[in-house]
Amino acid sequence: MRHLRPDFHEMAPEAPAKLVVACARCATANRVPAERLADDPKCGKCGAPLLDGKPAVLDEQKFESFVGRSELPVVVDFWAEWCGPCRAMAPAFERAAAELKASARFAKVNADAAPGLSARFGIRSIPTLMVFRAGKELARISGAMDARSIVRWVAAHAGPPSA
Ligand code: ZN
Repeated sequence: MRHLRPDFHEMAPEAPAKLVVACARCATANRVPAERLADDPKCGKCGAPLLDGKPAVLDEQKFESFVGRSELPVVVDFWAEWCGPCRAMAPAFERAAAELKASARFAKVNADAAPGLSARFGIRSIPTLMVFRAGKELARISGAMDARSIVRWVAAHAGPPSA
């Protein structure tokens, strides 16, 4: 009579959900239980760490698989080589990525190498940070920021991962 077992945790609508997290290496969409996000989950297909705390480098092809389905917030930095403030912000972006390792994915898009993405999102100045969930824009901000400000901005707009 297994079905009579009162398993309220599984039935409760607020039970921890599985979140889709795309692998930065092979683009496979993995489903990760929310409570396991902090346990260094690995890609079920290629074994790469899904949440390594490092910004992923996205081109136009990778963008769709990485950002489009991710139910973890994805913070994208639009930048370019020639942009001094972009280069100055890079270490802060990496620190914020490490700090928010289990609650958001960080990614970089080289605006010169991905003009289609810049046009699609109407990027007019760089650096511009955008945060997405499941492919939908939650917020954007232009101008260089320090790591503390990036973390605070992401938390304010993306919220906790299970929200
Ligand atoms: Zn993979």
